[in-house]
Amino acid sequence: MSEYTANVKLNTTKKGLIVRLIKDGTVIDHIPPGKGIKIAELLNLFNQDSVVIIGQNLESTKYGKKDIIKVENRFLKSEEYNKISLIAPYATINIIKNYEIVEKKKVVIPDVLEDVALCNNANCISNKEPVPSKLYVISKEPLIVMCHYCGYEFSGENIRLKT
Ligand SMILES: [Zn+2]
Repeated sequence: MSEYTANVKLNTTKKGLIVRLIKDGTVIDHIPPGKGIKIAELLNLFNQDSVVIIGQNLESTKYGKKDIIKVENRFLKSEEYNKISLIAPYATINIIKNYEIVEKKKVVIPDVLEDVALCNNANCISNKEPVPSKLYVISKEPLIVMCHYCGYEFSGENIRLKT
């Protein structure tokens, strides 16, 4: 083993990331601590056969602590990026092919949430009729959304995502 490889191994161990490398799949990094399980549920990761690793309260140089998810043989759809952005606005999505990161993307909160989350107004037509929900993001930090149909405004803390 060369000196270089030895150093790399040591660094990854320090960060606690060497639990298991995945061959092909997705690593969702920089999830706020405690939100990893929520994202795993949202992505329905518990109902698949592949390896899923959820790390909680790992050290993060940027944000103090973070959660991380590694999932094998699973790649995300664009609406899944949108959903993740609402729970983990600073998440980074790493796409792994043959043990290497081939793509690194940051999630971005979209300006309009089309059929991603429900309106919090129980009387809203989008909760009564089979119409796709539509919410405008009027503030990203803190997250505040407004319903296209009824104009109801509410905080992203209370947002209920469609599953
Ligand atoms: Zn509404």
